[in-house]
Amino acid sequence: MLGLMQNWPLTVDKIMDHAAINHGRREVVTRSVEGPIVRTTYADIHTRAKKVSNALLAEGIKLGDRVATLAWNSGRHMEIWYGAMGLGIVLHTLNPRLFPEQLVYIVNHAEDKIIFTDLTFLPILEALKDKLNPVQRYVVMTDKDHMPACSLKGAIDYESWIDSHGTDVTWGGFDENTAAGLCYTSGTTGNPKGVLYSHRSNVLHTLLTMQKDVMGLGARDVILPVVPMFHANAWGVALSAPAAGAKMVMPGAKMDGASIYELLETEHVTFSAAVPTVWMMLLQHLEATNSKLSTLKKVAIGGSAVPERIMRLFEEKYGVEVLHAWGMTETSPLGTLGSLGPDADTMTHDEKIKTKLKQGRPPFGVEIKILRDGVEAPRDGETFGNLVVRGAAIAAGYFKGEGGNILDKDGFFDTGDVATIDAAGFMQITDRAKDVIKSGGEWISSIDVENVAVGAPGVAVAAVIGKYHPKWDERPLLIIEPAKGASPSKEDILGYLDGKIAKWWMPDDVQFVEAIPLGATGKINKLALRETFANYELPTAKAS
Ligand code: AMP
Repeated sequence: MLGLMQNWPLTVDKIMDHAAINHGRREVVTRSVEGPIVRTTYADIHTRAKKVSNALLAEGIKLGDRVATLAWNSGRHMEIWYGAMGLGIVLHTLNPRLFPEQLVYIVNHAEDKIIFTDLTFLPILEALKDKLNPVQRYVVMTDKDHMPACSLKGAIDYESWIDSHGTDVTWGGFDENTAAGLCYTSGTTGNPKGVLYSHRSNVLHTLLTMQKDVMGLGARDVILPVVPMFHANAWGVALSAPAAGAKMVMPGAKMDGASIYELLETEHVTFSAAVPTVWMMLLQHLEATNSKLSTLKKVAIGGSAVPERIMRLFEEKYGVEVLHAWGMTETSPLGTLGSLGPDADTMTHDEKIKTKLKQGRPPFGVEIKILRDGVEAPRDGETFGNLVVRGAAIAAGYFKGEGGNILDKDGFFDTGDVATIDAAGFMQITDRAKDVIKSGGEWISSIDVENVAVGAPGVAVAAVIGKYHPKWDERPLLIIEPAKGASPSKEDILGYLDGKIAKWWMPDDVQFVEAIPLGATGKINKLALRETFANYELPTAKAS
């Protein structure tokens, strides 16, 4: 017997309809690429997104076609998202930090028909245009006055492109399982693979992120997503903020400490989300200028593990709650969050910090477990294994079947992360499966050693890779990028680590480099480091 409730397809156009009707005057503020701060509202975004839809239809773009954006977070970017998705056109977010060959591969693989680009990225596209075969037109996200001379096919400024179009167009009306968004993962090996979000998964992810222990956004919040819309949907904020009626503050291209601080203060931001490197820049700015945060209440930090120093500075000095988040492109992206449970009532401050440094618990809608040799590992907070995940907004496969079947017999996706889960359900990432160092049959977490090492005086970035050892198979090599003006020695660093990590986790050597390479998403590029140190031999390997 079926239930007798309305069938209300879960399509994302309903989110912008809701925002325009119920929170129409709520602002979306952008630091524009052209320079000035631009203010718009959900009502305006709704209207202009409808014009985008009509302009797309006039270009012959239809349900299921892909159009791409190469753009920072901005009000215009929101209009393009909703204008395309509302018609069941797939919005493909291109990551400008990818290598040019990867961009070429992705645009061709996705068969993008239009690329919307910020002015910033014109040089990238001009250089690649002859290889971007499926693209029939480029729309530059600016107005006539700021439109430069440009040799891209059909290039037109965005304002002129939407100007002549009306707002009369119907959104939705297709199956909720229709594709809505496409985002390629920047895998370190092989070609990037496309994660194809559906309307249903995006709406369910939105509802999931609105839970109190997740982002818990409300209509009184002012949210500044530093996390880009081109990387896993800005952690869903471009959908959850309008759903909640929260004001949005878009940083555009400027993510340095001073620029972010200015927006946090002038726009009275209450909640923000970014990767640790961005927060590091903000904290350095606060320390250097002796500034305070007057409205910010909470920051979500994820993408890589939160260093203890960042957690403590925010919580202890600036009175800002830190929410540690784990996720990936394939998980839409939020998978677990470090919100404390009821046992926090009896915890000391330090115990709370220690717990919050873990990657956290899954909200309703996400299931996780740890597998060791295919068998579920105990939830004891100690046993490492492969972290697998299943849920309402988790990828079931990659675009065009790349990578084959990615689910196990129970429908779980292997994240490629190695983790523990404790008795309270808190997951802790101990490594990427390919980065874990296998020493004498035991596993050493490169991330744990890096997190401690980065706290040593004079260290800017720390990375650990495994190197061949004749007796132990692999032993850790610690690579340090010193802070500006500092020159710590190997002995200083090892002395700092002593007692803070297990003895057998101690790196066998420390090497110094001018800059540790970062990948397209700001994470340490271990593949590049492994290449740099390909011919390096550990002193302990030579000795044994
Ligand atoms: P991406 O798909 O590019 O967003 O990368 C996802 C990967 O980033 C995950 O599989 C993890 O390896 C890593 N990651 C994300 N969040 C965290 C976190 N809070 N702590 C440690 N690693 C993280």
